[in-house]
Order: sequence, then structure tokens, then C-alpha cells
Amino acid sequence: MAHKVTDECIKCGACAEACPTGCIKEGEAKYEVDASQCVDCAACEGACPTGAIKAE
Ligand code: SF4
Ligand code: SF4
Repeated sequence: MAHKVTDECIKCGACAEACPTGCIKEGEAKYEVDASQCVDCAACEGACPTGAIKAE
């Protein structure tokens, strides 16, 4: 299990700042979660203004 960024991402960067493990990085079209480092804390989900991050 890991959190995942969907196409609703507007690349604001709030999730990357909120993530305690630093596993969210800016990708080509949207931000991306490195699933191997995600601890499913959901901090990114709460920080995202568009609701683009979901638990897989
Ligand atoms: S659930 Fe937590 S660890 Fe996983 S990407 Fe979001 S903020 Fe980072
Ligand atoms: S907080 Fe949401 S909209 Fe902003 S970069 Fe992260 S996933 Fe995209």
C-alpha cells in the first residue's frame, strides 16, 4: 500500500512539503510518490488542495 497522485494534480507542491519521508517529487505531468518510501501517513492527502492524492 502507498498513496498515489492522480491526474487532478495541479503541481502546487504542497504534498511534497508535507510528506515526512520526502518521498514525493515533481514529475513530468504531476507530482509522483515513491511507493517504496511511503509510510501511508496521509499527510499529503490532507495538504492537497484538489484532493488529487488517494490511498491505493
Ligand atoms: S502518505 Fe505520508 S509518507 Fe506517503 S506520500 Fe503521503 S505524506 Fe508521504
Ligand atoms: S498537493 Fe495535490 S495538487 Fe499539489 S502537487 Fe501535491 S498532488 Fe499535486
